[in-house]
Amino acid sequence: MKNKPLATISLDLDNQWSYMKIHGDEGWDRYPSYFDIFIPHVLDILDELNLKITFFIVGRDAESEDNRKYLRMITDRGHEVGNHSYNHESWLQSYSYEEIEKEIIAAEEVILKATGKIPRGFRGPGFSWSNDMLKVLESRGYLFDASTLPMYLGPLARRYYFMKSDLSKDEKKARKELFGKFSEGFRKLKPYFFYPGDGRKILEIPVTTMPLLKLPFHLSYLIYINNISALLMKSYLGIALSLCRITRTPVSFLLHPLDIIGGDQIKQLAFFPGMNVSSDAKVRVFRYVIMSLMKHFEIISMENYSKIYQNENIDS
Ligand SMILES: [Zn+2]
Repeated sequence: MKNKPLATISLDLDNQWSYMKIHGDEGWDRYPSYFDIFIPHVLDILDELNLKITFFIVGRDAESEDNRKYLRMITDRGHEVGNHSYNHESWLQSYSYEEIEKEIIAAEEVILKATGKIPRGFRGPGFSWSNDMLKVLESRGYLFDASTLPMYLGPLARRYYFMKSDLSKDEKKARKELFGKFSEGFRKLKPYFFYPGDGRKILEIPVTTMPLLKLPFHLSYLIYINNISALLMKSYLGIALSLCRITRTPVSFLLHPLDIIGGDQIKQLAFFPGMNVSSDAKVRVFRYVIMSLMKHFEIISMENYSKIYQNENIDS
C-alpha cells in the first residue's frame, strides 16, 4: 500500500492578554492568562485523539510561575514546543536584526526554562516575517520557520479586524501589514528552502491554504463556516484536502485556542467574535476535522517533518 502524504498540526498558544492587546482592550499589560483552563482542556482532547502537535509559545507567558506549571504539561505529555516570539507583536517585519535577535533569544530562553525543551521552530505573530528574522533563526540553529500564510485575503481580513477593534490611528498604522499583503498570495504553498541572503538557508513550512484558490481552511475558518452550515464546512474541508492530495501538498494545519474552547469556559473573552459557540460544539468540529485529516494523511511532528524534508532535499 502506498504511504499516506504527510501532515503536521500546530497550535499558536495566544493567551488571553494577546487577544485583548490585539483588540485594543485595557488591562492586557497585566498579562491575564487562561492557561489554567485552556491547557488541561486541550491536552485531554489531544490525548483522546492520540495526537501529538506543536505548540508555539509566547516568551512572555513563560515568565510567571503559574503559567510555567501548565506549559510544562505540554512537553510532559509528549508535544513539541516552538517559539512564537517574546512579546507577540505583529510587526516583527519592522524590527532591526538586533531587535529581532533579542526577541527570539529571550523567548527561547524562557521556553526552555518552562518546558525543558529548546524550540527548534518559529512562527511570527500575525504571520509577520522578514529576511532578518530568517537569518536570526538560521544562525540560532532553527530547523524551520512557519510564519507565512499564502492567501489573497490578508488585506480583507485586516480591514475586518480594524472595523471590529477600538484601535487608534497610530495603533492601526503599526499593524498595517497584519495578516500580510495581497502579494502574500503568490508565495509558495508547499514547504521550501528560503534563502534570506549571506549564503544562508532555512526551511519554510507555510500554513496550508487551499491549493490553487489560496483560500484559508485553518480551524478558525472551519468553525466560522460550520456556524453557517455544518454541511458546507464538511464540503469545504473535503475540497481543501482533496486539492492537497491531488497537488501533493503536505498539510500544515493551524489551530488557535479559541477554536477549541468557548465563552462558556473562558468567560473573560465571552464577548469575542465566535465565543458564543460552546466548547462542546467547537470540540465536535475539531474532532471531525482531525479525523478527516488522519484518514488521508500521516500526521507527524513539525521537527520530524523538517528532518525528513532536509534529508530528501539535500542538494536543493
Ligand atoms: Zn499568535
